[in-house]
Amino acid sequence: MSVLIKNTVIITQNKKREQIHGDIYIEDQEIIQISKKPITIEADYKIDGRKKLVLPGLINTHTHIPMTLLRGYGDDMVLKRWLEERIWPVEKKLDSRSVEIGTRLGLLEMISSGTTTFLDMYFFEETIGKTTKEAGLRAFLGFPLIDFGTPEYPYDELFPRCESFIRKWRKHNLVRPVVAPHATYTCGPETLHRSLEMADKYDVLLHIHCSETREEVYDVQKRYGLRPIGILKKHGLLCDKIVLAHCGWITKNEVFDIKNSGSKVVHCPVSNMKIATGGYTPLPELLHSNIAVGLGTDGAASNNTLDMFETMKFCSLIHKHHRWDPSILPAQTVLDLATIGGAKCLRMEDKIGSIEEGKKADIIMVDLKKPRLTPQHDFVSHLVYAMRGCDVIATIVNGKPLMLENRILTLDMDAILEDAEKCAYELTAA
Ligand SMILES: [Zn+2]
Repeated sequence: MSVLIKNTVIITQNKKREQIHGDIYIEDQEIIQISKKPITIEADYKIDGRKKLVLPGLINTHTHIPMTLLRGYGDDMVLKRWLEERIWPVEKKLDSRSVEIGTRLGLLEMISSGTTTFLDMYFFEETIGKTTKEAGLRAFLGFPLIDFGTPEYPYDELFPRCESFIRKWRKHNLVRPVVAPHATYTCGPETLHRSLEMADKYDVLLHIHCSETREEVYDVQKRYGLRPIGILKKHGLLCDKIVLAHCGWITKNEVFDIKNSGSKVVHCPVSNMKIATGGYTPLPELLHSNIAVGLGTDGAASNNTLDMFETMKFCSLIHKHHRWDPSILPAQTVLDLATIGGAKCLRMEDKIGSIEEGKKADIIMVDLKKPRLTPQHDFVSHLVYAMRGCDVIATIVNGKPLMLENRILTLDMDAILEDAEKCAYELTAA
């Protein structure tokens, strides 16, 4: 399959952060040619790129995709009550069918808002893998490990199931397995050790929630005498294959530990603010230390969308406001986090995260012909401060168009919306 986009502006996100006015040609899975001069080759899809931007697909490095079904179910509640009264009772009722429906809804939302790769952690991850494969997105799927088992498996079965999940997906082109111990307050030393062993055995990523709330940090310290980062360090998990979600309550010394270990961090500003975790991920310090940082939406239940454009804007604003310094996190830095930063977290920076010849063709197109996006003094400013997911008109993953001219090609939108509506009501019925 081949795609030729003509007369466009390419926000490359390459090392020089070049913006190239010209054409781009994609064949099979790869970006073959980027040229300021017209490319005159025949292609299966020929797209007029005038008044549009082409940029790398956005990378959502922390989500729980089936939680789209719980969008708007229990807003404005204190975290503990929200979990105990709303989220956990519904999660107990989940099965493979409801997870499939919620996943499809999330995939639909991601394709239509420009996300091409995501890092997930949820129950029934095998179902999420199968559904994602059909829709054509690139995904890193975290098999969940928790001391008290999951709605899918009792604890005794978790590690053997995790191993077969890894064996099944580790050679797949787009869907990759990840070992996901939930957090240090839900996983004791044994679960952490076994998780590390599993990740080492197959050389796959580890993904964990870390220092999201103050209560979590204090509880863990009370129980083990160490804070979450300290626990991970003690048990060997603080290493270059771990992706730490949140880190809203970490110290300067812990930033130092993260840097020295090569661990990665995912910042989820919208979810943190909505749940009111109070902590500020020390993003300027993390970036100053050259730590790989990506952006995540977290689950739709605590966001309430999977729109990475919105996450970019919130990311920039929260730190400007917090530090009394509008220059602390420029638009270009934030766009870097959502593209090449996410790719680094997933150890994929040589394949995705920027538009360069020879890289995988994960690209999106946004429409500039809108009142909200006129005039265009600065494209990167628009991408971070003015655009929304609904401005995306085309999404291509691994060279395959998943959406063109706002039309979703790999999923049936009407059927998904109807199924999701029905399933959400069933799950939340008393
Ligand atoms: Zn999360």
